[in-house]
Amino acid sequence: MHIHITSPAAERLQSLSDSPDTVYKLVYDAEGCGCAVSGVPALWMLDRSAMLDTDLTAASEPTIVYEARHEVFYEDHLTLDYDTVSRSFRLSSRSQIYANDLPVVDRRLIMEAREQDGETTLRKLDEILAYNEHFVESKEYEQYLTNRYPNKKMVILTCMDTRLTELLPRALNLRNGDAKIIKNAGAIVIQPFGNVMRSILVALYKLNAEEVFVIGHHDCGMTGMNAELIVESAIERGIDAQLLTTLKHAGIDLRRWLRGFDNVHDGVMRSVEIIRNHPLLPPGTAVHGLLIHPETGKLDVIINGYEHLANTQQES
Ligand code: ZN
Repeated sequence: MHIHITSPAAERLQSLSDSPDTVYKLVYDAEGCGCAVSGVPALWMLDRSAMLDTDLTAASEPTIVYEARHEVFYEDHLTLDYDTVSRSFRLSSRSQIYANDLPVVDRRLIMEAREQDGETTLRKLDEILAYNEHFVESKEYEQYLTNRYPNKKMVILTCMDTRLTELLPRALNLRNGDAKIIKNAGAIVIQPFGNVMRSILVALYKLNAEEVFVIGHHDCGMTGMNAELIVESAIERGIDAQLLTTLKHAGIDLRRWLRGFDNVHDGVMRSVEIIRNHPLLPPGTAVHGLLIHPETGKLDVIINGYEHLANTQQES
């Protein structure tokens, strides 16, 4: 594929950018639509090309590149012209006109040309926003519509481990709207009057949840987590060591605050203990403790909340 840039077009492209690093990328822009079938030709103004992109132009001209996967949309010999009267770019081949008013989109601010695997990638936020537009437009949300009350009347405290993001709901047969799910590092309740316990109580009192599930997992990053290492890397990344001393004098023990648990089994037990002994827990609330396998999704019951309730009722 080759592109011939007429001199009015070359002049116009050069005048559009004041930076010598600017490159133009010929794309078949399907953004916002999600399918490559109904895209439109466009020129993206970028800071520099990605390694995979192929340079279409001679060294003296403004640089125009394209991605190999867009090649199928164009013929081999293209001409880019600029009409100074209508002030528009025209992209054509010998047999067809691709665009009489080819859009030039300045993507220098929203694209970060990262040479990751040689591909230009969008920055995370931009990538998410681009996807989101399509998601909303195509009404993909409809399959998730529900209300704020958990259908299965349960609240789950589990770990933020990324392996569990989809696995845990699937393994428990939970769909959108079935359960309140609270996540943190290690599925830990540290303080009876902290943030996690507050969320659990809100779910139980205000949102119709009736049972609590604490679900830790094997191979949890909080197992044996060395608080000392976190403090060290904080200092390495530029946190003033003096600040840590100041916090210590103010009664904040970072090493205690940041510590994990010796094993996940004990971590779950301890969290369950704090929840079921909480003075504000609605009487008769079952609090279960489980472990999930982060690969297979297999659940092991550590504490069966029903049995514990039955035992304590017998005792009293
Ligand atoms: Zn974890």
